[in-house]
Amino acid sequence: MNDFFISALPIIKSIEKAGFEAYFVGGSVRDYILGRDIHDVDIATSATPVELKKIFAHTVDVGIEHGTIMVLYKNQSFEVTTYRSESEYKDHRRPESVTFIRSLYEDLQRRDFTMNAIAMDGNGNIVDPFHGRLALKANMIKTVGEADDRFREDALRLMRAIRFVSQLGFHLDNETEAAISKHANLLEYIAVERISAEMQKLLGGKYKEKALLIALNTKLYQFFPSLCNQEHILSEVLSLPINQLNETDMWLLFLYLTESDEPTDLMKKWKFPAKKIQFLNRALNELSIRKCQEWSVYDLYRAGEHIAITVEKLYQTLNGKSGEYVEQNLVARFNELPITSREHIVISGNDVLEWTGKSGGPWMKELFIHLEKAILTKEIANEKEEIRRWIITCLLP
Ligand code: ATP
Ligand code: MG
Repeated sequence: MNDFFISALPIIKSIEKAGFEAYFVGGSVRDYILGRDIHDVDIATSATPVELKKIFAHTVDVGIEHGTIMVLYKNQSFEVTTYRSESEYKDHRRPESVTFIRSLYEDLQRRDFTMNAIAMDGNGNIVDPFHGRLALKANMIKTVGEADDRFREDALRLMRAIRFVSQLGFHLDNETEAAISKHANLLEYIAVERISAEMQKLLGGKYKEKALLIALNTKLYQFFPSLCNQEHILSEVLSLPINQLNETDMWLLFLYLTESDEPTDLMKKWKFPAKKIQFLNRALNELSIRKCQEWSVYDLYRAGEHIAITVEKLYQTLNGKSGEYVEQNLVARFNELPITSREHIVISGNDVLEWTGKSGGPWMKELFIHLEKAILTKEIANEKEEIRRWIITCLLP
């Protein structure tokens, strides 16, 4: 058993000792069977939250209305969720309230895909009523029960299906894929934040090409923010070597191909955080410059290493090339820059005021831009006395 499971065993054992059932469920069991890395474990139990709180001294109500509490144990935290059924779905979204139940089978039955509906007890015994292991063996994503019903109940599953394709490289079972085509429009009922979170995982997946192709074929993309009627963009993305791109690179590619005058509006539609919007806007800007010229030292300095590498990788991708060699090249050039930020300049504005006897003003900003360029092009060294002499000469009438 994996370390994550072992550290959670005392939780399972304590619940069992109190007379209830407890199992590992969901992504951790799936990834364990697949031999993939596990990042957390989810525990499902027949005990209700009230009963759990009697068993454990330290708990936090993280999602008690859905039956989830966090158990704190030996400096670690574990999410424990009461078996539940989700009988009533409103507006094709997961229900606000749930019913706690005592049956593991029913709890597994409400889960999205057979590979996600496998449970494992504290001794490593598997409970797999929907043949999730067979699906895993066949690299197949298949809904638990009727695909039509399951997507109609909760349309977020449309996105989850294709993001799992991207992360695992699996194919969709025929009925499941047909149901995605049929119910793609139900995505409209899902909050953009949730679509965006799945999209982020999709674009970070190793098999994003496969997933985006399904989004194209099933027309699911028609219901993505900003991609309605943009089939040509998706087709173009799929014609490029996007394997080498990470999630951020992929967004930059989409933004670039969209040719929008208002990229910020577009990113707001996807509910990006301000920091991400700022980064991508800067990268877009640098990309437009890179398209016209090779990187000058000043361009590299202004862009910064992260943006420059992102932009260069994208530029190479747009030309159908691998970005790896160029990336190494850029890193080497960065390492040779005398300064990589204004803070590295050994003098301050106060020094300039003292040397020149002038009072501050907009000229100072311009002077520093000149100074940066002079240092970057190695016209002068980043050394106090040399800079002082250079400034005095510059400012001579
Ligand atoms: P990841 O490795 O990305 O965390 P995961 O399968 O664990 O994948 P979670 O969102 O953490 O995904 O959900 C945990 C489990 O809860 C899933 O494996 C699945 O059994 C169930 N689940 C999550 N979302 C849904 C949903 N929308 N409909 C039905 N079951 C769901
Ligand atoms: Mg999970």
